[in-house]
Amino acid sequence: MTNLSAPLPRIALVATGGTIAGAGAEGEPSAAYQAAVIGADDLIARVPQLARLAQLQTEQLLQIDSADFTDDKLLTLARRVATLCDREDVDGVVITHGTDTMEESAYFLHLTVNSAKPIVVTGAMRPGTALAADGPANLVHAVAVAAHPSTQGRGVLVVMNEEIHSARDVAKVHAMRLDAFASPHGALGLVVEGVPRWYRQVARPHTTQSEFDITTLGALPLVGVVAGHAGMRAEVFDAWVAMGARAIVYAGVGGGTVPAYLLDHLTALRERGVWLVRATRTGAGPVIRNANAQDDAHDWIVTDDQSPPKARLLSALALTRHVDTTAFQQVFYRY
Ligand code: ASP
Repeated sequence: MTNLSAPLPRIALVATGGTIAGAGAEGEPSAAYQAAVIGADDLIARVPQLARLAQLQTEQLLQIDSADFTDDKLLTLARRVATLCDREDVDGVVITHGTDTMEESAYFLHLTVNSAKPIVVTGAMRPGTALAADGPANLVHAVAVAAHPSTQGRGVLVVMNEEIHSARDVAKVHAMRLDAFASPHGALGLVVEGVPRWYRQVARPHTTQSEFDITTLGALPLVGVVAGHAGMRAEVFDAWVAMGARAIVYAGVGGGTVPAYLLDHLTALRERGVWLVRATRTGAGPVIRNANAQDDAHDWIVTDDQSPPKARLLSALALTRHVDTTAFQQVFYRY
């Protein structure tokens, strides 16, 4: 039962842009619109239901298409969210974000913000001017989840299309539909009649149990991602090494299979100190150590089931600490 006399939870809303802040021609279902043009205050003024759920403090941290998120901006976001979570007058944080790289920012926060307070990321597949805009409902649901006491300690969540996903698992899996987000092991819960209903727990450590500390970090170590495909070329790895990458995530075919014709090249890169991190481009399932490649012999790392873009972030965080092969590999099994 809702206690009507209790003060509403205090939720900090951090706006970063994306389609939820986008606008196109009024009433058009068109994909032609401009992302990141509506300000945070306007965004919440259009959704009066929010005032019944929480006391909102809004801030416009960024106003960008999420494709423009760099590692520096990610560090800025994580530090800002951590600062807000440390404040006594903040009970939870909601971040509005473009959907294209939402899973990456959410995962980075999941691994780096040392707080049990609810942190919820949301966005929209359609701008507010579209016929069936999804942003207002997503925003109401995100605030409802962040304001609910049962959300404490679950790590960073992505709330989209009435589903509540863990930042560890969620991915954008469709370029257009409203149900664009999915987790290979299923959502953690649903928003039912405006209230979170939970069905699963998060198994891997995050937020308060994470070992990663970015408070004094100047920049993230550079980690590249190379797409695997038939006919792929060795020179793409060299481009990352020339830029100073300390590790390269191979978004490999199938279970992360490495083409035989690349082996000598990748062995030479490893001898120069560059880590190779084997992932799968399939979107689900583990890459198994020493199964379809001799990882021990090559001194390579496997990502378990982590997606290539998130494996990039986890590798970068692992490299902020002193790592040998065993420690680097354990990071993927642990997180
Ligand atoms: N391009 C947009 C973005 O990621 C797409 C969206 O928000 O849905 O910022």
